[in-house]
Amino acid sequence: HQAFDEECDYLFKAVLIGDSGVGKSNLLSRFANDEFRLDSKPTIGVEFAYRNIKVADKLIKAQIWDTAGQERFRAITSSYYRGALGALLVYDITRRETYESLRKWLRELREFGNDDMVVILVGNKSDLSDSRQVEEEEGKKLAEAEGLCFMETSALQNLNVEEAFLQMITKIHDITN
Ligand code: GDP
Ligand code: MG
Repeated sequence: HQAFDEECDYLFKAVLIGDSGVGKSNLLSRFANDEFRLDSKPTIGVEFAYRNIKVADKLIKAQIWDTAGQERFRAITSSYYRGALGALLVYDITRRETYESLRKWLRELREFGNDDMVVILVGNKSDLSDSRQVEEEEGKKLAEAEGLCFMETSALQNLNVEEAFLQMITKIHDITN
């Protein structure tokens, strides 16, 4: 791992959004620290984590913002989105209502987010296929219709987590260059 204060070529902000309990915080801790927590850590205010990533020959410092549960009260504010170049829009494949909420999240993204924000749709908890309520095909279809990238992940089993973040960061890099 690189030193925190190492010189970077770019600093990107990206945000995690989606209903409460879909696994946003665990996706981030997996990506940033390779950690998973069975309990949700209650915190106040917005938190973020950094990771330095090499894309092409550039060193990028990705600053990923996580909600601290405000999504439960539909109280995410425009400052959360301000300056964000990317978003992981997350639902839980075992809870259909989190997929149904995506329309609302997409509206909010369009209202508050940058016009050319890179959005990756993420169906998390792919390890729980026995209790699946949303087919992978449905995620794909919505992503296609909305022009998003799509991936199913498991923060628990560390499946596709790195890929989802890296896809977002690489695309941001491509757009801004
Ligand atoms: P958030 O509210 O979106 O930040 O969701 P959390 O990251 O706090 O996760 C909510 C719950 O889902 C916690 O109990 C996690 O342990 C669990 N969880 C998160 N990701 C996964 C996953 O990929 N698989 C499984 N089985 N559980 C997960
Ligand atoms: Mg959380």
